[in-house]
Amino acid sequence: MRTYKQLLLANQAWATELTDERADFFAQQTAGQCPEFLWIGSSDSRVSPEQMTQTPPGDMLLHRNMANLVKHDDHNLMALIEHAVTTLKVRHIIVCGHYGCVGSTAAVTGTATGSMAAWLDTARQVYEDHREDIDAQDGQEARVNRFVEVNVRDQLVNLARTAPVQQAFAAGAELFLHGWVYDIRDGLIRPMMEIDAATPLDAVPRPERVLLTTEERIAAGDEVLVAATTR
Ligand SMILES: [Zn+2]
Repeated sequence: MRTYKQLLLANQAWATELTDERADFFAQQTAGQCPEFLWIGSSDSRVSPEQMTQTPPGDMLLHRNMANLVKHDDHNLMALIEHAVTTLKVRHIIVCGHYGCVGSTAAVTGTATGSMAAWLDTARQVYEDHREDIDAQDGQEARVNRFVEVNVRDQLVNLARTAPVQQAFAAGAELFLHGWVYDIRDGLIRPMMEIDAATPLDAVPRPERVLLTTEERIAAGDEVLVAATTR
């Protein structure tokens, strides 16, 4: 476990490395931002959007919450979407779920209490809306994986229905919404779906299954997971 002093030392090393590469790196940062991406993902400590996509400062706006939910009454996220789409004119918005999501697991099992239960009400609704598909999966791991996938779909549709996105679509702006899942077992992002101005939002299909269970992947000869289990 890193102590807080190590965080500060690492920060000094990081800033030094960047200025060694480009002396005016931080001077340029003060000129403003022109990010191309807005990332909406889970708060999970194992999911590091900038690190796993090697995105430098200035290229990606970030919003993270438990179970990567897009709620129209969440002023925190709605303010960011408005700013990102209307003012900064980002081209791509990504909603990314992930394997092993704690909030998603709680949404499927219905075990959350307190503030977590209150926050996850939207996720519980996703579970109810896709219950037939989710409950048809074999075992809890597969059910949570399926929830993660259909949850990204539903949140992406919620995102597409926000006023700033609808206005950008109507104005013919270059704006694309992407639904991805990140697999903490091998560090890879699996793209699932895309929504743009031409997508009929009332008929967005459920994505294909991309998060297979560990058992399924070992059976299929997945090298990373086979190596992990035979170590
Ligand atoms: Zn999560």
